[in-house]
Formats: sequence, C-alpha cells, structure tokens
Amino acid sequence: MPAASNPLNLTGLARTPGAQRSWWLREALGQEPGQPCPPLQADVKTDVVIVGGGFTGLWTAYFLIERNPDLGVVVLEQDICGGGPSGRNGGFASGWWDELDGLVTLYGPEAAVKACRAISSSIGAIGEFCDRHGIDAWYRRGGYMYAVTASAHERLCKEMVELAREVGAADELRELTAAEVKARCASPAFRGGAFMRDGASVQPAILVRGLRRVLLERGVTIHEGTVVTGLDGTDAVTARGHVRAKHAVLAVNAWGIGWPQLNRRLVAWSSYIVLTAPAPERLREIGWTGGELISDFRTSLRYFRTTRDGRIAFGGGGGRARRTVDEMFTGDTRAVSETADGFRLMFPSFADVPIEDAWGGPIDVSPTHLPTFGRVGDGVYYAGGYTGNGVAPTHLAGQVLADLITGADTDAVRLPMVNARPRSFPPEPFRSWGAAVVRRAMIAKETAEERGTQPSFLVSQLSRTPRRLGYLLGPD
Ligand SMILES: Cc1cc2nc3c(=O)[nH]c(=O)nc-3n(C[C@H](O)[C@H](O)[C@H](O)COP(=O)(O)OP(=O)(O)OC[C@H]3O[C@@H](n4cnc5c(N)ncnc54)[C@H](O)[C@@H]3O)c2cc1C
Repeated sequence: MPAASNPLNLTGLARTPGAQRSWWLREALGQEPGQPCPPLQADVKTDVVIVGGGFTGLWTAYFLIERNPDLGVVVLEQDICGGGPSGRNGGFASGWWDELDGLVTLYGPEAAVKACRAISSSIGAIGEFCDRHGIDAWYRRGGYMYAVTASAHERLCKEMVELAREVGAADELRELTAAEVKARCASPAFRGGAFMRDGASVQPAILVRGLRRVLLERGVTIHEGTVVTGLDGTDAVTARGHVRAKHAVLAVNAWGIGWPQLNRRLVAWSSYIVLTAPAPERLREIGWTGGELISDFRTSLRYFRTTRDGRIAFGGGGGRARRTVDEMFTGDTRAVSETADGFRLMFPSFADVPIEDAWGGPIDVSPTHLPTFGRVGDGVYYAGGYTGNGVAPTHLAGQVLADLITGADTDAVRLPMVNARPRSFPPEPFRSWGAAVVRRAMIAKETAEERGTQPSFLVSQLSRTPRRLGYLLGPD
C-alpha cells in the first residue's frame, strides 16, 4: 500500500466514519429533506405496522397500498428512513445469476431460474418506479462485471458462468477475457472475469428518500425516531405508545439479531465504503465509463462503482462480526483502512486522488447467503438475510410480504425462498464468536491468495468451517 504517496488523511477520516450520515444520504437530504415524520406519541390502531424504514419496510408499505389503497399502514423507524444500510450501501441493484450455485443447491434449477427472473424484473421495476415518481436516483443499467484478482478465483469464475449455461441462461452471464475486462476497466489487479448483464447502479439514499416521499403522498403514516422495543402479538410496543395492528412486519435487517423471532437466522457482519474525490479524467484513462458495477470474487467481497460526478465508491467486507449492532458497524477505523488498502491495490493510478469520505453499516448474513421472506409467527412477517445484496431483493420482498398479508395468490408468493426455513445458526455466544473467528480467517486466506502466497493450514481450515457445517458461506 503506497501510504507515502497517499494524500488521504486516513487518520483524520478514520476517526469519524460513523459520526455522520453517509455521503449518499447527505446528498439526498441536501436536495430534499422531506416533510418531518415525528416520533410516535400515542396509542394508535391500524391494519399493518412495519418495524424498520429501510427498503424492505418501505417497499412493503408501497405494495400494500398498491394492492389496497384503503389499508392503514404505519411505519416505525428508530432513526430516519434510509439512515440504516438502505441509505448507505453501494447502490448495486444486481441480479442473482451469480447466486445460482446456492439457489440450485437449495431449490433446484427450475425454481432457481424463476427466482433469478423475479430479481431481474425488480431491477427493471426500480428504474420504472423512479421514472414514474420523478425520483432521479442516478439509475443506470450498466451491468455487473466480476473481476478475477487471484488465481484461486479463476475456477470460481468458470463455474459460475458454466452453471448459468447449464440452467439455460448463458445470455445472462458470460466469461470475459483479460482484454475484455481491461476494455471495461483497466486495473493491474484484474486477470479476467465475467459479465452479468443484470445490474443497475443507483444513488441508494435518493431512492429510499424518494420512496418515503411517495408513501407519505399516499397516506402511509411514518414515525421516525421511534424505537420498537418488541411485539405483543402483532402490536408494536414503543416507549411512548403502542401501534395496535392486525399484521406486523419485521423489516429490521441486521438488528434482527436482537429479535427472538429472527436471531438464529442471522449473523451481523459489517461492510465499509470509501469514496474518492471526483476524478472523471482518471476514469476515462482506465476506460471505466460504462457505469458497470464491479466486484471481485472474495467472500469478504470488494465492490466498486462510479458516481455521476466521476468518483469511485469502493466497498469492502473487511469489517467484523458482532453480537449487537453497535458503533463497530459505523465507526471501525481498521475496517476503513482495510477498505482503503483494497482500493489502492486495485487502482494504483488513483494514488494521488484523495479519499474524501468513508462510512459503514451492518450486513444481515444468512446461513445460505440468500434472503428469505415470509411468516415468523401469527400475523407476523419478515424479510431479511440479504447478506449484502438487498437493493433489488428488497423490492421483491416488499411484493411478497404485501401479497402474503393481503392474501393475494401471485407468482411472487410461490417463489422458493418464501417461507423457506434454512438451517439455523448456533445459539449465542457460539454464533458471534464463531462468526468473528471465521471471518478473520476468510479475510486472511483471501489476502494471502491475492498476494500469491499460501494461507496457513489453520487459516485455510477455519475459513472452510461454515461449508463443513452445512452453511452455504465462504470457500469450500
Ligand atoms: C456498506 C454497505 C454496502 C452495501 N452495498 C450493497 C449494494 O451495493 N447492493 C446491495 O444490494 N446491497 C448492499 N448492501 C445491503 C443493503 O444495503 C441491504 O440489504 C438493504 O438496505 C436492506 O434493506 P432493509 O430495509 O432490510 O434494511 P435497513 O436499510 O437496515 O433498514 C432496517 C431499518 O430498521 C430500523 N430498525 C432496526 N431496529 C429497529 C427497531 N427496534 N425499531 C425501529 N426501527 C428499527 C433501522 O434503523 C433501519 O433503518 C450494503 C450494505 C452495507 C452496510
């Protein structure tokens, strides 16, 4: 890492990654702060109460009102809508063709393809939603390029492409030569790769705040600054009032580790993003002008995209696994540095381009690397386990939950991840301890592979533990 040539004051920056809203959200609030949604202060009655004002909660509210405009819907959000990962993610609305391995293992090829097609239509529908409602969320359908950055990943790339061909979806995912990769984005770290045509970039905070605006226009009640401390049946309990409802939706993402209905379904890991200063001329020099989303093949994924004003937003899953969603998910200086290291490794020609911002957030890792949507109790519904890929799937989750609640018999409710019960994670304290150890081992293994060195025997064995225990996570 060429620290000496790096003008970024990482020390100064690293002190504050969690002390402010993400750059996306600051942009979005600067453009349109939106009307206030004061905290709940009284007992109220409604049809559906939704806990969580991120994409899952807001899309669910949106589709409920689409299905039945007379339904009463109340959303309770502890922060502001989009204050969590929905307003701080990488903005990759990407397809599931890269998830075929897990989907086919779990549900068989036919159902797997149906699930992928459903996500594809969500990607298109998000763009249409933005057009219809005048939300300029920088939607750009530039596709998704996978870059091989270590020889250990060449096999993964080939298998991924081969599987798409086997299920009859060769058009969706194709292998790229090293020269084709270079033509889309020239990095000395890239050795080859693949291209998935299903992929759109968005400015996630503008999207989530736009969705909030549409819901308010349609009569949905939103209370921000309102922590739900639990459910009493289908009623939401808060310090200043209850929402009595016929149905409740838990749309709490990684905070689910604190909910008894969800905690064995999730492990909470963090992911961090660093953002460069605008450097459009440098992007032109490396040929990255097509708006492609890009990632590598690591389990601790590095993912990167460009912005309208010519910045790179570079994310890395280098953070930690924790038992509660605490400040390590937004203020972890080590994770910021590791993410910045990844960026410098991939983009040495940006050595003198400052990194201007950094932020992080929690990821709700599921045992299968894939989300599930459905019922978790009488009248209580849930969607989560997105494992860092929720921008498009939350749109689908919203339709599924709305259909389940309104009793609509649609293709969406017959998708294989609806009411699926993947194997649970172990109880605490083993879950978070195990996750923390395994995560560091995976990062150490992948860092060694990237440097062309051999990971230690212990690191290799530890990183394979999840697969050996039957989870669809990490290397095999
Ligand atoms: C750094 C980072 C980068 C990512 N990049 C991508 C990407 O590029 N593409 C992609 O597809 N996915 C990405 N993700 C994942 C994606 O952001 C999530 O999967 C998605 O936003 C999930 O939406 P959600 O509504 O379920 O969760 P959230 O947006 O987290 O919403 C849940 C909300 O519930 C609220 N809440 C929790 N507990 C309570 C409570 N007790 N009472 C009231 N409110 C509560 C929280 O404050 C939060 O706002 C990324 C995530 C992170 C952290």
